[in-house]
Amino acid sequence: MSERVYLDWNATTPLRPEARAAMAAAFDCAGNPSSVHAEGRAARYLVEQARERVAGLLGAEPRNLIFTSGGTEANALALSPQLAVGGDKGPRDRLLISAIEHPSVRAGGRFAGATIEDVPVLSSGVIDLAALQARLDVLRATATGVRPLVALMHANNETGVVQPVAEAAALVHAAGGLLHVDAVQSAGKIPCDIERLQADTVAISAHKLGGPKGAGALVKRSEAIHVGDPLFKGGGQERGSRGGTENVIGIAGFGAAAEAAGNALAPTALRMAALRDRLEAMLRDISPDAVIFGEGLERLPNTTMFAVPGIKAETALIALDLAGVAVSSGSACSSGKVAGSPVLAAMNVPAALAIGAVRVSLGPASTDRDVDVLISAWRNLVAGLSKGRREVAA
Ligand code: PLP
Repeated sequence: MSERVYLDWNATTPLRPEARAAMAAAFDCAGNPSSVHAEGRAARYLVEQARERVAGLLGAEPRNLIFTSGGTEANALALSPQLAVGGDKGPRDRLLISAIEHPSVRAGGRFAGATIEDVPVLSSGVIDLAALQARLDVLRATATGVRPLVALMHANNETGVVQPVAEAAALVHAAGGLLHVDAVQSAGKIPCDIERLQADTVAISAHKLGGPKGAGALVKRSEAIHVGDPLFKGGGQERGSRGGTENVIGIAGFGAAAEAAGNALAPTALRMAALRDRLEAMLRDISPDAVIFGEGLERLPNTTMFAVPGIKAETALIALDLAGVAVSSGSACSSGKVAGSPVLAAMNVPAALAIGAVRVSLGPASTDRDVDVLISAWRNLVAGLSKGRREVAA
């Protein structure tokens, strides 16, 4: 069997060699990072080295980083009415969520359902900043002065569309709110400096940037921001923000992957964008009526999501898989089910087109050959479908 072509890097990535080596070395580290003896100190060293490396990717202070089990937990940890800044410990009484967030954000963390509101996106897939501003104005004008927490992702996992996070942050802060940013898809692919984004908290995940599955982090912009309400209370690890003995091996792999991703960020982004542009041009050659979601907007360099009228994603996925190519439809976390994408629904994409949405996501190891194999499989799929239609019509 010829080699498989993996083009589903937004779902998860293969391990980077640097992460594999760091994890292999950590296997032999017997100590508990909380122990004071030499074995414990060796494990603590690995955790703190990784903390510096991961924080470095976001330009954050290592002490402001809390390791978690992944992006889902990092989002859940941030989304709490108890998220506080400085001495201001009054609860956040409203959670505003963009309509295209990942399900782990849309679940709302520890906010009660009645206190969660959607903020719409434009048909381009970009948050409607005017709608956000209008909602913040209304909340501020209430007698009690509602204090919102707003969640806006940096880049969408399906379309790759990059959100105007710094602009949103300015609006949110002017209204006395806090901003949480899910940067799970952007970290390691485009610059994610926490100061530039002006995010108060940022969620990231190791397995989206070449690290292992099951490790992630919540990063705070300043030490003054407190997770008032840890998900796991216990031994006081992670400065009391996340109890439980640290996943030393996973964290070591996360650190090495983050450092490697950060070192190669700009050239890798350029290379992936060139591959992606070539892929889209070839796709248009075969299917001139292809709709590329978010085309012309700032997008992750590795991501393209498209639909061709009359071709169902389910059919395409199976045909491509049989041809040795792995891609996905909609978000990875829901790729097991054939439901319409809530992201495309939020963008008002007609359901008949949305059921054809195929996501191709490249990675640092993707090659021209990978794109060629995909395009040749797509050409066969389109030819097969039109032959079938001609036969039915005859
Ligand atoms: N946020 C986004 C945007 C994602 O794409 C994902 C995973 O697909 C997550 C959060 C969840 O991350 P994890 O798989 O580490 O829990």
